[in-house]
Amino acid sequence: MKKLYLLVGLFLLASPSFAQRTLIHCGNLFDGVENALQPQMTVVVEGNKITAVQKGYATPTGQDRVLDMKSKTVLPGLIDMHVHLEMQTRRGGAIDGFTRNQADVAFQAAQYAKTTLLAGFTTVRDLGGTGVNVSLRNAINAGLVDGPRVLTVGKSIATTGGHADPTNGYRKDLMGDPGPLEGVINSPEDARKAVRQRYKDGSDLIKITATGGVLSNAKDGSGPQFTEEEVKAVVDAAKDYGFAVAAHAHGAEGMKRAIRAGVQTIEHGTLMDDEAIELFKKYGTYYVPTIIAGKTAADSARHFGYYPALVTPKALAIGPKIQATFAKAYKAGVKIAFGTDAGVYIHGYNAKEFEYMVEAGMPPVEAIKSALMTNAKLLGMDTQVGSIEAGKFADIIAVDESPIQNIKTLQTVQFVMKNGKVYKQ
Ligand SMILES: [Zn+2]
Repeated sequence: MKKLYLLVGLFLLASPSFAQRTLIHCGNLFDGVENALQPQMTVVVEGNKITAVQKGYATPTGQDRVLDMKSKTVLPGLIDMHVHLEMQTRRGGAIDGFTRNQADVAFQAAQYAKTTLLAGFTTVRDLGGTGVNVSLRNAINAGLVDGPRVLTVGKSIATTGGHADPTNGYRKDLMGDPGPLEGVINSPEDARKAVRQRYKDGSDLIKITATGGVLSNAKDGSGPQFTEEEVKAVVDAAKDYGFAVAAHAHGAEGMKRAIRAGVQTIEHGTLMDDEAIELFKKYGTYYVPTIIAGKTAADSARHFGYYPALVTPKALAIGPKIQATFAKAYKAGVKIAFGTDAGVYIHGYNAKEFEYMVEAGMPPVEAIKSALMTNAKLLGMDTQVGSIEAGKFADIIAVDESPIQNIKTLQTVQFVMKNGKVYKQ
């Protein structure tokens, strides 16, 4: 008899049906695979995984927990390919680099990460900071702070005086001569060293600033800043570590060099011309528009003293152009990945980008999908995130209305689950 009890006991322990399940009753489900909403569905979550997606409202048994989302539309957690969790725009913020210690940056970054998660973005790609973003990723993974899944570049790679040279605009004696260790390169040899340094630092991918940029304290916002040879060296070295390369680019020449050298994504893409568009299509390069960042930078620049004197004219000239570029690129058949440049605007408003994409001519379903499976594939995580399917991580959000009818509903996410844990309800 004792033996029998022992056997039954072992069976109970081993049986998965006794693990607590969460049944999410979805009024409508947008699973990220189908183009239409599916009414009255149940998503079954066990542990950190989705284990089933069923028609109708499944009846709970045993210890099942039910989350009633019958009045909501349920979607996969959103993915943003371009955020900066270490920083956030503010008037006069150019001085922060001189006044904040890494610990200050870290506490702030933890707050921005949480804000991002609560806005429904359960996975993000951090495209550049000081390296605190690597520690932030680790802290989130260890459960020490709340935030999205983070893949980070650590520090962006630039050339001397280029966008992301960390000492741009400094007094001469503070400038020094940053090199590959700090992410500044001036030859293919430097490029390899800088990539390997990022690997050593714990980065997940590589970012280069292929042209000038708006917010760096330097005059040029769009000219090329890498030779094609240098970009090629970055891309080749990155391949050895399985790293994708993202390239910031406003001007067409730097963009073309980056595309031909084999980068995965072009960020901003503001001044792309017809030849650049053809190259995007020929090489299968993805375009990450960041419309919201352009608009916000231009708006901020209209307030006197918000940015340093060198930055204001660049923000006014480049910022407002991105939405029209996006419209043109989309129409021409360039592949679009969703990304916003969060930090250049206030964290948490990431979903405003969907509204701008739809305004520029992209159908809502496509806009939403650009932030799901498209991004998941680019991150190499398409078996883990990007859709609500059995076997994937339970990264699930809910909104009040159909986002296909009203794209703005994504700006007020009502429910957030990441890795099976509820963060907002
Ligand atoms: Zn950026």
